[in-house]
Amino acid sequence: MTKKIGKIIFISGPSGVGKGTLISALRDRHPDWIFPPSCTTRAPRPGEIDGKTYFFISRDEFQQKIDAGDFLEWADVHAGNWYGTLKKPLLDGVRDGKTVIREFDVQGYLVARDALPREFFTSIFLRPAESVADLIERIRDRAPISDAEVSKRVKSMERELDCAKFYDFEIISEAGKIEKLVADAEKLISLATKTQK
Ligand code: 5GP
Repeated sequence: MTKKIGKIIFISGPSGVGKGTLISALRDRHPDWIFPPSCTTRAPRPGEIDGKTYFFISRDEFQQKIDAGDFLEWADVHAGNWYGTLKKPLLDGVRDGKTVIREFDVQGYLVARDALPREFFTSIFLRPAESVADLIERIRDRAPISDAEVSKRVKSMERELDCAKFYDFEIISEAGKIEKLVADAEKLISLATKTQK
């Protein structure tokens, strides 16, 4: 017999791989899954909802949470804005037997991974089917970028792709094939959240 177990599913992949589209499809299709928002000190943009897009909190509140050890990980991401992942919604989700979906960049994932019991999570890396050269070509088609910027992006993509080895599973994401990406992710998540009894 199989039984569902609580599990955090970490999802990473380079920009443009379809991460955002995948997560929003999973959110629509699985209302019983948990998608905990991060905390941030940046101001909300139009249309963003407190408690849904992010928990928008002041720098003082953020500092209090750091001091209290409430964050699984946090970072000064850009322009002096802080972003952090609260431990509690993730751990509560696992204890309640829920599937918890969490997107991370590679750095954030590596910190979170080392702070959690191994059996609490499964990680998935989304790898673009296209080569780095083709991805850059696509970015170049959208907007003109300098050669210096191209070489910076190539390096950062290569560095990110090299980190796929830190993940439990890899899914190949083909441009425009979002249904296949969702189906592949659901299959892996279903395997990861079942246990033999
Ligand atoms: P934005 O301000 O555009 O929503 O996000 C800016 C950046 O913050 C993105 O690269 C996103 O990955 C990162 N970010 C969002 N939440 C967290 C978090 O909880 N921890 C870390 N380390 N980065 C985050």
